[in-house]
Amino acid sequence: MSVYRNKEAKCGEVIYDAKLDEKTHAHFRPGNSELGNGIWNYSTLAGEHPMILSNGVVLTEFLGTCQGCCEHCEHDCYARKYCMRYHNTCIPAYIDNTLLLRHKRDDFFKEMKNLFYYNMVSCFRPHISGEFIDYDHFERIVKFTTTEPDCRFYFYTAKKRFILDYLASGKDFPKNLIPWASCYKPEEGDEVYPFRCYVDDGKNPDPRLRGFFHCPKNSPDGRKTGVTCSTCKVCPLGKVNVVVFWKH
Ligand code: SF4
Repeated sequence: MSVYRNKEAKCGEVIYDAKLDEKTHAHFRPGNSELGNGIWNYSTLAGEHPMILSNGVVLTEFLGTCQGCCEHCEHDCYARKYCMRYHNTCIPAYIDNTLLLRHKRDDFFKEMKNLFYYNMVSCFRPHISGEFIDYDHFERIVKFTTTEPDCRFYFYTAKKRFILDYLASGKDFPKNLIPWASCYKPEEGDEVYPFRCYVDDGKNPDPRLRGFFHCPKNSPDGRKTGVTCSTCKVCPLGKVNVVVFWKH
């Protein structure tokens, strides 16, 4: 861990700072309360602005990996909210992963390969929080999936341009990977790629959303139901073509 924590930070001061050095390493987890057990994952910082608490204390000045790809970013992002609430456990790991993927990407993928060598990884989801930094990052994850054919991979990305560019290059996605393109609502031309997910906030539901499968993890009023991805499995296995998430 190359992250330094200033526990005494006051308004305008920064809690988490970091510098890339030999202590910077990748952080992977074998699940969480929403995914369930056995879905390995990593996260990076989300958003495109520094994270600042309501009392003015700056959690970190490192910018996230999303680069404004979500229309309703700062206001609605569950990843930002979660990260602010549980910053003790999240932010140091997310900063390390962000730094490695930005500046020492080969090292990150070397550590990811080691993860698979030393663990039985049967399901993997990149960036629960954060996004693909650029097309190279996206393409390297896709390529990685071909080296681990016994593992099921899935991801959500609001940078759907990467999916379209990949398909436009004439390549198919590997069979063990489901690439979900996430959008707030359906857009013109969505039908050109197969796996899409949307958000239903209940206030202005697009009529096209109603008939689609809704993720059972949350109820229509956004409460947790206790279902996890490792019990549902719809997304990792690509059992449907469209998933709608109740806003939570
Ligand atoms: S539909 Fe199932 S697999 Fe997909 S996010 Fe919801 S609970 Fe997880």
